[in-house]
Amino acid sequence: MLQVLNPATEDIVATVAAATREDVDAAVARAVAAQRGWAAAAPADRARLLRRFAVTVDEHREELAELEVREAGHVIGNARWEAGNVRDLLDYAAGGVERLTGRQIPVPGGLDVTLLEPLGVVGVIAPWNFPMPIAAWATAPALAAGNAVLLKPAETTPLTVLRLAELALEAGLPEHLFQVLPGEGPVAGDALVEHPDVAKIVFTGSTRVGKQIMAKCADRVKRVTLELGGKSPNIVFADADVEAAALATPMSFLDNSGQDCCARTRILVQRSVYDRYLELLAPAVASVVVGDPSDEETQMGPLISKTQLERVRSYVPQDAAALTGSAPDGPGFWFPPTVLTDLPPGAPAAVEEVFGPVAVVLPFEDETEAVRLANATDYGLSGSIWTRDVGRALRVSQAVRAGNLSVNSHSSVRYWTPFGGYQQSGLGRELGPDALTAFTETKNVFISTEA
Ligand code: NAD
Repeated sequence: MLQVLNPATEDIVATVAAATREDVDAAVARAVAAQRGWAAAAPADRARLLRRFAVTVDEHREELAELEVREAGHVIGNARWEAGNVRDLLDYAAGGVERLTGRQIPVPGGLDVTLLEPLGVVGVIAPWNFPMPIAAWATAPALAAGNAVLLKPAETTPLTVLRLAELALEAGLPEHLFQVLPGEGPVAGDALVEHPDVAKIVFTGSTRVGKQIMAKCADRVKRVTLELGGKSPNIVFADADVEAAALATPMSFLDNSGQDCCARTRILVQRSVYDRYLELLAPAVASVVVGDPSDEETQMGPLISKTQLERVRSYVPQDAAALTGSAPDGPGFWFPPTVLTDLPPGAPAAVEEVFGPVAVVLPFEDETEAVRLANATDYGLSGSIWTRDVGRALRVSQAVRAGNLSVNSHSSVRYWTPFGGYQQSGLGRELGPDALTAFTETKNVFISTEA
């Protein structure tokens, strides 16, 4: 059984049965049958059903958001956005169903066309930090491209996606086409990875588990997309609007209590404005409202679990120099906003993913050193560049090895644009105009005109 705790109160929210390997086998068999009918349906009908699913999600947005507050401790404003994001992802994918075209390629002696065929059954293994959106990043385009989806949520956060599966049925999607299998990673997750009838795995989670899954997929040459960890830089040049950069900094690493793979946790500031930047940053960090996530005013809630709280604590030395905010006492998994100001560049908190409300700030001399520090990591997911010099913005964007950069902003994930990591932050891309193609196999057919 999986016990779902409210991270703000430690109360038990629900107990959910964990799927066994046999449950996964049975679900795959049902999904194989459902996928055949779905792939054969007219594209316009598939698109219509996905749009209806989007409308149904929208009608239940508040209910889903409140459930996300209870199971994951997300602040209510974010949770509403997350449910709305699922709606948008479904709408966007629905628009692709009737535009999923192959190519006609000029060749001698006949006609050559490519067919984009669905893969079959797709296994999605999701983390707990954004239970609904991350599940939908893969589920919406996979369904739109004609696949069935089996979703294994994280142990701590199965509730909102279980509700999404009910809403899919309510909207009229065929039974067994989208099934949610709550369970342990090494049991239900592994069963999906090993199952011969699961054609692709989309995994979002830690780099450690991602590597294991990639190795297992290699055995069957199973398709795999990996969205892994990050340690993203926030580079502030002296020619930036330093005040705007400082004021935008807190929520760039505190959003979702820092449990965000794109969190800008390595703040790199040009030395000539370093002191001024810290002067501006200190009150901005201190003023972040941390507390009850269901309160509309709250900006940051608790961490997901006791394990995560202990992990975050272990990165912050007792005597470390830091700018800090406050956090509630009492029950719940609380940790205050923390910016470590005096760590050596090689300290664990400066190089490893903390996945909590902790950032480090490091000075740099010039553009060359900024790029060197930004790239001094095995990760490569996101990053921000603050400068008013357009040439510098472009040069640094080209030089930083990361999949998602933003200039004078901290935006990373938008459903219109491709998302994914360089290096050990991942493999493949999700979202954006090509999202559906990642769930197809390209078949080339040559038809002779000379027979
Ligand atoms: P995790 O790797 O522990 O777990 C992720 C999922 O994998 C869970 O559903 C878990 O049950 C499952 N799992 C665990 N072991 C497994 C196994 N042996 N076989 C199959 N499945 C298994 O990660 P987490 O702690 O849930 O999530 C936090 C991590 O996710 C962070 O490192 C974060 O950076 C990363 N993340 C990345 C992105 C991205 O898009 N790049 C987005 C969000 C989170």
